[in-house]
Formats: sequence, C-alpha cells, structure tokens
Amino acid sequence: MQGFLAPQRLLLGPGPSAVHPRVLRAMSTPLIGHLDPMFLGVMNDIQTLLRRVFATVNPFTIAVSGTGSAGMEAAIVNVIEPGDRVIVGINGVFGTRLATIVERCGGKAIRVDVPWGQVIEPDSVAALLQQSSPVKAVVLVHAETSTGASQPIEPIGAMCRQYNTLLIVDAVTSLGGMPVEVDRWGIDVCYSATQKCLSCPPGLAPLTLSDRALSVVKTRRSPCHSWYLDLSLIADYWAEKSRAYHHTAPISMIYALREALRLVEEEGLPTRFARHQLNSRALVSGLMALGFNPLPPPDRRLPTLVCVTIPSHIDEAAVRAELLRRFGIEIGGGLGPLKGTVWRIGLMGESSTEANVLTLLNALEEIGIRSGWVSTPGAGLQAAAHTYSVGR
Ligand SMILES: *Cc1c(COP(=O)(O)O)cnc(C)c1O
Repeated sequence: MQGFLAPQRLLLGPGPSAVHPRVLRAMSTPLIGHLDPMFLGVMNDIQTLLRRVFATVNPFTIAVSGTGSAGMEAAIVNVIEPGDRVIVGINGVFGTRLATIVERCGGKAIRVDVPWGQVIEPDSVAALLQQSSPVKAVVLVHAETSTGASQPIEPIGAMCRQYNTLLIVDAVTSLGGMPVEVDRWGIDVCYSATQKCLSCPPGLAPLTLSDRALSVVKTRRSPCHSWYLDLSLIADYWAEKSRAYHHTAPISMIYALREALRLVEEEGLPTRFARHQLNSRALVSGLMALGFNPLPPPDRRLPTLVCVTIPSHIDEAAVRAELLRRFGIEIGGGLGPLKGTVWRIGLMGESSTEANVLTLLNALEEIGIRSGWVSTPGAGLQAAAHTYSVGR
C-alpha cells in the first residue's frame, strides 16, 4: 500500500479549519512522557493561554481529551444528576444534542425551541427560570454551527446568578473567532473544540469551570457516570501539585494546541476578532449580490460561520461537489431540516482570510455563469471588494 497523499484543500466548511504549518510542525515534536516534569510545563502553558482566550481567571481551565463532543458530554455529565431540571435552548443541531445528553443523564430537559436560524430570547429564559425553579442549569449554544446564529449570552448570565442556576455554554464555533467572556458574562461551564476557530487539528476540547461549578461537581450526590470524563478525577491530573495519572494525555495534540494558542496570542484577540468580522461581512455581501441570503437576522449572524439559503432552482449539492472537485474548496451543506436548502461556510481561524473569501466567490461565480444562475458576472466580487475598501 502506498502512503496517503492528501489533496490540496481550502477548508471553508464548518470545521476543521486550515492549520498553520507551525502547528503541524509542533505535532511532530518528539514524545516525552505525559508525567515528565517538562511536559507539566507544557500543560501549565496551555492552561495560561486558554484562560486568556476564555477571558477567565478560573483555575480549572483544561483541555479535555476528545473532540468538541467530549467537551459537550463532560460539561453535562459532570453537572447534571438524575431529576435535575435543565433549561436547554434549541435552535439547531447542537442544542438538540445537548438536550439528548441532559436526558441521558437522567435530567429533565426544559426545551426552549425556536425556529432554526433564530436565537433564544433572554426574556423567555427569564420566564422559565421563574416558573420552573429550582433549575440546575441553563444550557445554550453561543455559536450554532448548523444555522450561523449568534446567541446573546451576557443578559442570561446575570439571570442565572439571580436564580442560583449554572450557565453552561457551548463555545465550539466561537472561541478564538469572536469574544467569549466567561467571567464577565457569568458563564459557569464553557467548552470548545480545537479544530474550529483555534485552527488546530480535532482532538481536544478546551473547557473551563467556575468555582461555583467546580463545587457542584465535587459535591454530587452520586459519582459522575462517565469515568473517562469525570472532571473531579481529571482535576487531579491538571492540578499542579498532584498530577495524578488518570489517562494518558494525547501528547502530540497538546503540543499542537500550545502552538495554536501561541499564534492566537501573537495576533492578539481584538485583531483576530476584527479579521473574522471583516471577512464574514465581505463574504455575506458577495453572496447576497449573487442571490444567497443569510439565514439568521442581520444582528444575529456569526462572524465565524456564514449560513445562506439556496434558491430552489440551484442544485446546491452539485455546486458543492463541483467546488471540491474543480477548485479543491470545501464548504458545508445543511444538517437535519436544513439539508439541501443552505450552505454553511466556515471562516474560522486560519481559514478566515480575504484571499479565501475572494477565491470562493470567484469559483462560485464561475460555476454560476456556466450553470446559468449568475446573471451579472462580477457582482459578487464587486460587493466583497466594496466591503474591503470601506471596511478598513
Ligand atoms: C463542531 C461542534 C460540536 C462538536 O464538536 P466535534 O469536534 O465535532 O465533536 C459541538 N458544538 C458545536 C456548536 C459545534 O460546532
């Protein structure tokens, strides 16, 4: 069998995003033992750098072994016990999954369903908190990757404090691409994934717990029913004083995350967030000029993932296949009820560049000209160019 030669791809889907060569190089660093004193230094660095992107002083700030779903599961399985009432905002795939996990833990999910593409209004959470008290936790998806909607978190954080309820937030498609202010917004449990806006391969889930959440985890009535994701045990591995063996850390992934976080630090968060904003605005203006309109309302659109609806006369799957085959560009299709009706274009981390936006619009226009659905050639690029010329 021959070695695998990966094709050239422009990763503009819902993840993974492009990875910087420095991160790939870090992954090939020789292994050392995961209890080696030198490795403990690497873990400390990761904790320091993660606290900065999460904007938190939480001592319990770690990287869970596993993808974003491991972070999701760890967040719920450690906090929720049988019989707990949990308010879950559902406006896409990931909210739906969170409700499923809550119920698998024996919790009672109080669902706040809104149409996909919309966000959960803080007032509806306030009403439920009052009606359903006591509520163990409110669970929200900050950046709903299946719809491109950006959920307001801050007003809900204040309410949760008032009702002594924990706030659990999925920041998988936001961390590193837009502000996630764990302490200021009053988030108690926040998790993410490495392969989205942090531009690292998939395999780790950054996670932070407030002291309030940590004491809930440590005073459970019954042990967490996942042994592997039991944060009270994992805490002893990350705690500087003990570093007790629990499971073998994925060493190469930890090297990669450290380097990816160094790149975030070098760019600076404000610059990085502004870059994501500008590139997504340019892409949206270009797509709108081509007849594709964003699903979420204007003030609720993510800078990290653009989700647009596809007019029914366009065979969206055929266009995506052609983008991949002829241009090496990956974008995402719709999930669940949005299958066949939207595109999801990720502009995350290293993938969020002006060159990528213009390359994608150019390829789409070319396909549209040949298929007959672009009537004014150049309109998409012109709109994007305008955004760039006034945007900076
Ligand atoms: C991608 C994603 C996840 C799951 O992450 P995996 O790395 O695929 O396990 C969870 N939540 C959101 C919002 C996501 O976009």
